[in-house]
Amino acid sequence: MTRILITHADIITLDAAGTILRNADVAIDGERIVAVGQAPAGFQPDATLDARNHVLLPGFVNAHTHAPMTFERGWAEDLPLDRWFNERVWVVESQLTDEDVYWGAMLAAAEMIRGGTVAFGDHYFYMDRVAEAAEQAGLRALLAWCVFGEENNIGADLPRTVDFVQRWQGTAGGRIRTILGPHSPYMCEPRFLARSAAVAARLGVGIHIHLAESQQQVDNSLAKHDRSPVELLEANGVFDVPTIAAHCIYVNAIDQAILASRGVTVVQCPNCHMKLGMGVTPVPALLAQGVNVALGTDGTASSNDLNMLKEARLAALIQKLHHADPEAMPGDLPLRMATQNGARALGWPDSGAIVPGMLADLILLDCDRPHWRPRYDLVANLLHSAQAGDVSHVMVAGRWLMQDRRLVTLDEERILWEAERRALALVGQELAIVRKYQG
Ligand SMILES: [Zn+2]
Repeated sequence: MTRILITHADIITLDAAGTILRNADVAIDGERIVAVGQAPAGFQPDATLDARNHVLLPGFVNAHTHAPMTFERGWAEDLPLDRWFNERVWVVESQLTDEDVYWGAMLAAAEMIRGGTVAFGDHYFYMDRVAEAAEQAGLRALLAWCVFGEENNIGADLPRTVDFVQRWQGTAGGRIRTILGPHSPYMCEPRFLARSAAVAARLGVGIHIHLAESQQQVDNSLAKHDRSPVELLEANGVFDVPTIAAHCIYVNAIDQAILASRGVTVVQCPNCHMKLGMGVTPVPALLAQGVNVALGTDGTASSNDLNMLKEARLAALIQKLHHADPEAMPGDLPLRMATQNGARALGWPDSGAIVPGMLADLILLDCDRPHWRPRYDLVANLLHSAQAGDVSHVMVAGRWLMQDRRLVTLDEERILWEAERRALALVGQELAIVRKYQG
């Protein structure tokens, strides 16, 4: 067990009271924080970090992404959702190999660590390789192998994803968790959704799914099933297991009440929603009803980066603009969505606050830079002035993944080379449409 003492840090604790500490210490023993403020008497650290001129806070949790899609960064620009899927994203994925997934995920891992992310909720294909990447990077991950239905899948059908869930559950010292990943109510038949829910219940795991991304999806669902997408999931038992639902943009009052009463976590992806012109998740209304709302980047084919600091900032700005109300999403609320709300959704309720007893999943940002001065309000500086490149240190479970901007666990040079080479080779092949998005 390694004992680490971090001294002289300015700390955004994100505890229940929103406490900010100046020039304070954090003591870490093994994977947990044991003291905040002052080290306990007799605490003998194996290593000490002087964090003067650094802000320390819980690491970011990217609650909805498709990490390996880094190879599609810049591949699907300025297109509406149907053409984005049909002409670009699902076309290149026709040639996807597990090796592409691995290097895409490794590139994502390097980017996530550099931006201060400590955990991610991933939804993609060939997920054994994403698990390998998360294990090697030292990140926490909740992994779902995406399936579309009984056929036309990539790499695995539902029974094979069950094997994946069992193979990786609780591995990497508990850093990797698994869950089922039916794609969405618009791609999966109701019978398949019900089957997925039953299988998840039997396995004792949850479901990570896309939900209510466009008005057209709602209209089609009503025409086909006489139910909104939310009602369709409810009727097919999906919400009987813990559910993470990405997007939830087009959810009316009835839908919102269902999400609240069934304890569904909603993941807003503001960068993606803005870039694809999708709309605005009614976050203030959902929060008022007690819904756990987290933040995600979605894949880099839509958001182009895995920058959770930017998502937190956009989560504040998009609601202020949408409601023409500068008081919307005040204070540290966007930071809580970007950290502890995501940690809770991914299965680590004991992560996301700098409090004794919590997991030592934390980051430091170098605030000895022009855009950080003056430092009246550290939360405002962090949310509205900081840059992802200010992140200097990242710790997960008491282990440094980045120190002084140096990646500890990953060979970044090799990752950049492999990822770029494979991405160019992938899109250079003969590509075919594998399935069709109809909303
Ligand atoms: Zn997504």
